[in-house]
Amino acid sequence: MGEDAMRTIIPPQKSVLQILGATRSQCGVWRLCQYCHALPVEGGVLLYHLLTRELLLLSLSEWDAALTLPELHERWFVVPDDTKEQEHADLVRWALWAMKKHTPVTNFTILPTTDCNARCFYCYEAGRPRRMMSQETARRAAAYIAEQCSGKSVQLSWFGGEPLMNPDAIAVICASLADAGITYASSMTTNGYLFDPTLVKRAVEHWRLRSVQITLDGTEQTYNRTKAYVNAEGSAYQTVMRNIRLLLTAGIHVTIRLNVGGHNAQDMLLLAETLAHELTGMGSLSVYAHSLFGTECYDITSHTEELRSDAALEQLTERLITLGLRRPERLRRELPLTHCMADGGRARVILPDGRLTLCEHHTEDEIIGDIASSQLNECLMKTWTEQEKPISACAECLLYPECNRLKKCESLEKCTDATRRAALRNRELSMLNEYQRFLKRETVQSPGC
Ligand code: SF4
Ligand code: SF4
Repeated sequence: MGEDAMRTIIPPQKSVLQILGATRSQCGVWRLCQYCHALPVEGGVLLYHLLTRELLLLSLSEWDAALTLPELHERWFVVPDDTKEQEHADLVRWALWAMKKHTPVTNFTILPTTDCNARCFYCYEAGRPRRMMSQETARRAAAYIAEQCSGKSVQLSWFGGEPLMNPDAIAVICASLADAGITYASSMTTNGYLFDPTLVKRAVEHWRLRSVQITLDGTEQTYNRTKAYVNAEGSAYQTVMRNIRLLLTAGIHVTIRLNVGGHNAQDMLLLAETLAHELTGMGSLSVYAHSLFGTECYDITSHTEELRSDAALEQLTERLITLGLRRPERLRRELPLTHCMADGGRARVILPDGRLTLCEHHTEDEIIGDIASSQLNECLMKTWTEQEKPISACAECLLYPECNRLKKCESLEKCTDATRRAALRNRELSMLNEYQRFLKRETVQSPGC
């Protein structure tokens, strides 16, 4: 990279800069904004601003002189020494909320059933009633979706229980939407056991299934023991691995979630090697490690720290990166103001009996309405926008501008040094990913250079 060649890889979010206005220094002393993260790359430095969303590439000499560069002052990478960043971030978030436009509901998480063919020891749904969506409810669910989406295309997410235990409800909803001329695509969270070649074909053609998330709990023996499928024939692990291959070759993106804790850490490292060996190059695949005991979903009051095992999670994540299985996320162009679908305002969860919630973890409580009525419990819905109060560490935290911690989310991880390290590692991978895409674009635009 040439000298003094500052490049914009991702432009800033204009509305954020407008809200912030110009930087003004009373004291004449400047420093790097605490929401900037610098990452050295060959011959330069990537500089990412988590509040303005801008990503720059600086030459080494520019980086050395960063505090004096007017462009960096203008775009809030460098700020007066007495700047209170947290106050600025709060102001930006408040103003962006106020400017938010009302949009129709276009994302629907649908539970065709709360029944499941597996018996994982950690399941948060254990002991809840097992309900099946009837064909009549499926038809009414499709009519409800068509009414809500105002003609816009919709995204359907099949969830459960195990959604494949009721493929007929899925088929009825998709056929009814197609008949009504609604454009849709779908994704699914499934254990993957019930797929077969015929069902995969049906899923691609009729359900417009584009992506699937499947959880694996270990190598063959550990997996079979943990999942404890009801009426399993042969090795469930082998069946699921075959089905992952079927999905990948059918062009469906597969995300594999590895549920890791202190109890299975070594086994998970072995599984990562197996996945790399058996699945690399087969299609669009990404694998990530999830801390099984990192949230309050699971009732394991004793040994929590030991089972939680941040070290195991970090080690597994690094191994997945090395093996090329961990696909980096894109950097979000707009400052995220919400935690998930529950507080995003554009999503509903449809339960098997037609009741509505905002969070897929709540199948028996937190009911906000029913597909049969246009009435919604607005008071209850409002409680799903409440965020946790900042903790003392937030004042200095790089991640503060985009940290949305929904008070009612029961799968929210406690904020610790380890979770913050993991979040920062993710941002760095994303920065590198954006940089590589930028370099590729440059090569295509100037092939002769
Ligand atoms: S990651 Fe933790 S410390 Fe950082 S802003 Fe969020 S809650 Fe606060
Ligand atoms: S469990 Fe948490 S992240 Fe998932 S939908 Fe509910 S509130 Fe959102």
